[in-house]
Amino acid sequence: MADIIQLLPDNIANQIAAGEVIQRPASAVKELLENAVDAGATEIKLIITDAGKNLLQVIDNGKGMSETDARMAFERHATSKISAIEDLFRIKTMGFRGEALASIAAVAQVELKTRRNEDELGTYIEIENSVVLKQEPCAYPIGTSISMKNLFFSVPARRNFLKSNAAEMRHIIDEFIRVAMAFPHIFFSLTSNGQQVFHLEAGNLKQRIVQILGNGYSAKLVSVKEEMDYMNVYGFVGKPETAKKTRGDQYFFVNNRFIKSSYLNHAINTAFNEMIARDSFPSYVLFIDLDPSVVDINVHPTKQEIKFEDEKIVYAFVQAAVKHALAQFSIAPSLDFTLNADIQSLDAISKPFTNNEQDNAASSNLFKTFTLRNQAHAIEPTNKNELKSWKEFFSPSQESINKEQAASGDDFFEYEKPFQSLVNSNQQLETHTSSYTIQHCLQLHNTYIIAATQNGFVLVHQQLAHERILYEKYSVAAHGTQMATQKSMFPVSLELVPRDAALLQEILPELQMIGYLIEPFGNNTFVIQGTPADVLQGNEKHSLELLIEQFKHFSSDIKFSKREKLVRCMARQQAIKSGQPLQQQEMMALVEEIFTCNTPNVTPTGSPTYVEFKEDYLDRMFQRL
Ligand code: ADP
Ligand code: MG
Repeated sequence: MADIIQLLPDNIANQIAAGEVIQRPASAVKELLENAVDAGATEIKLIITDAGKNLLQVIDNGKGMSETDARMAFERHATSKISAIEDLFRIKTMGFRGEALASIAAVAQVELKTRRNEDELGTYIEIENSVVLKQEPCAYPIGTSISMKNLFFSVPARRNFLKSNAAEMRHIIDEFIRVAMAFPHIFFSLTSNGQQVFHLEAGNLKQRIVQILGNGYSAKLVSVKEEMDYMNVYGFVGKPETAKKTRGDQYFFVNNRFIKSSYLNHAINTAFNEMIARDSFPSYVLFIDLDPSVVDINVHPTKQEIKFEDEKIVYAFVQAAVKHALAQFSIAPSLDFTLNADIQSLDAISKPFTNNEQDNAASSNLFKTFTLRNQAHAIEPTNKNELKSWKEFFSPSQESINKEQAASGDDFFEYEKPFQSLVNSNQQLETHTSSYTIQHCLQLHNTYIIAATQNGFVLVHQQLAHERILYEKYSVAAHGTQMATQKSMFPVSLELVPRDAALLQEILPELQMIGYLIEPFGNNTFVIQGTPADVLQGNEKHSLELLIEQFKHFSSDIKFSKREKLVRCMARQQAIKSGQPLQQQEMMALVEEIFTCNTPNVTPTGSPTYVEFKEDYLDRMFQRL
């Protein structure tokens, strides 16, 4: 029998190796931008079409390459950045593995143009499947341009694994931001399908943060700067009011390399301690510089973890630096610790309540849904199909029951519903209020509603209960027919930071299902043409911004579909908040509504929505039984 082992041809070996480095267009963005930074460029432009699936080009004004180097650069393990293993411990460049260009050339069609200052003519190279197709001298300004076309054209299986353009674009923007944030003295731009998404003039770190994260931050950054022999920490943390419900605006760099570290993140969170609500995340852009010999960056190329020689020192120092910065700006004393940030930011608390506002509140859509009978069920079943999903909604599938049970952690299905007469008539909604009417409600602390039941009373949490009501309503819409849209009389435009724009683009179809009509208008701008029937108009911009914010919070949670995430976000966002005074009719409607829900007693995430006090329990309490 013949021997069967053979060496893989170079191009196949390269293709396999490339899988480690280039997983998607965004990986190429990272590698090419880092190469440009390493080449000492002061201007770096990224141009893409079709989220990098079609074209991804980086143009820099760095030092360029000689003719031989230009050719060598595409060999595997070809690098100018290290020559001996010890060099790994004094690395000052972003790259060092010498794998990026070889990988890109293995899985795409690549064109390189480059010229050094000392050369009269530059070099042009065309390479595909690791094979050089053309190499010739060319006229070119000082610097380098690398274009990568038709990523994975020769590996269709991989190409099929790429996500939608919107999703890939979001990854690209993330990588772009991570590099651009770390090098504020370099000009960066990003052009996508002919439109400029970022134009970041060279400046200082604070300017760069505001350019990227938005003007909202300009007056809200606290400088962090501590130096010691072992390491330096510098950068900015957002004042407590910039804390988000998402981890979105958290950037940590070690020696200018973006890293993810839940350990260091914890250090910062604890430095903020009581200043922000427990479920929110501080914003920060922080840099640690330390001797390369005490960090191990030699991890997987696409991973962002890092190993420190002494983690504890780094942790303690980062925490102390942030605490010190916050204390210096004496932010702490101005906060009222008894109120959480959500409540503090409510208009109801921060602004005086005028007659005018009172009228507005009374005429708001929310109020109407509560006062007009059956209005809360905005979609009236009009045809058989809708009717069907409507029915299903009231007799949940076993699967959804299991899911909810898992989420709530208790046996809610056994739970006795206090308004028996209401909930027993699930099938005949129209008559549900006839047998028992709530007489009167009492609001406590603008948060709780007390309502007498046939044999006791319920204590309802207004925000959590309303979240459950809306959740069930939106779920029906999302799984059946599209929800009713109210056309905006005065369409509002919404300009987002590029990262959020990419996200919004990605969820547009789902938003439409729940009643939003939004059109992209180019340049990170969208026009809101319509909103779900019960979103208060005039407020749609803010609602959407909030929605995006919350969606980001969920976006790492793979257990839910996009649609489910949105429904949950919408419900949470549109729910009346704690702290909001309610009219008698509003309270009564809310209490009625919650007990017509499938799962009245918990929110989608499992918090209780009400507590019931029964007569016999009360009697026992007062030793009457
Ligand atoms: P690494 O960055 O790890 O060295 P790469 O494959 O990314 O490996 O690049 C190989 C080499 O090509 C680099 O070491 C560098 O010398 C050269 N090179 C790559 N990109 C550029 C660029 N934009 N300008 C100048 N030289 C570059
Ligand atoms: Mg590199």
